[in-house]
Amino acid sequence: MIGPNFQEMRRLMVEGQLKGRGVSDEKVLAAFSKVPRERFVPEDYQQNAYDDYPIPIGNNQTISQPYMVALMTECLALKGEERILEIGTGSGYQMAILAEIAGEVYSVERIEELAKYAETVLSSIGYENCRIKVGDGTLGWEENSPYDGIIVTAGAPNVPKSLIEQLKDGGRLVIPVGGGFSQVLTVVEKKGKSITSRDICGCVFVPLIGKEGWSD
Ligand code: SAH
Repeated sequence: MIGPNFQEMRRLMVEGQLKGRGVSDEKVLAAFSKVPRERFVPEDYQQNAYDDYPIPIGNNQTISQPYMVALMTECLALKGEERILEIGTGSGYQMAILAEIAGEVYSVERIEELAKYAETVLSSIGYENCRIKVGDGTLGWEENSPYDGIIVTAGAPNVPKSLIEQLKDGGRLVIPVGGGFSQVLTVVEKKGKSITSRDICGCVFVPLIGKEGWSD
């Protein structure tokens, strides 16, 4: 029996779901054309890896829909070489996309089992610019700060102060902010003492649970 043609599925996803909806950053499109998303989903879902929706990854968590990962990545406006922090490693897919474009990627995940699994997949593919820590990401990862960009892949009740503090001057924070069931994808920019934020679109994420997020 011939297995699924993941390369072709990936090409169709990039053309239809990403370019078709207006994602135009060449670096983002190139990363999505390269990263094997099927490696980041549970075996039972491999056939669906390139489908247009989130997929369960265990522990009540999900890998986001490809379009949402692309949109959030595009919001960071990466040129390459940046130091990026992600909160909510989950499957590690978003991290792989960032690792293709940026210089160094750090990620914090509160569920140890997911962090370990993501680490295994990322190193088996060969990413050497990724570091994962188990902990409460609402407090960021101070040790490697400041960051050129921070991306939060879980829904927050408001923007955690610690994350703004760990952002470089001129840096961007991309974060879903709102209620427990739906949020607004928000881009926060730090320029000197001024903090501005703009809304991108509505979205639905699992909750960001922690000291500066939702309580458990
Ligand atoms: N970026 C992931 C999707 C993540 S789903 C991917 O590409 O697959 C959201 C993740 O955020 C979940 O794994 C959840 O456990 C994690 N999370 C929720 N609150 C957190 C917190 N305070 N710190 C770190 N991770 C958190």
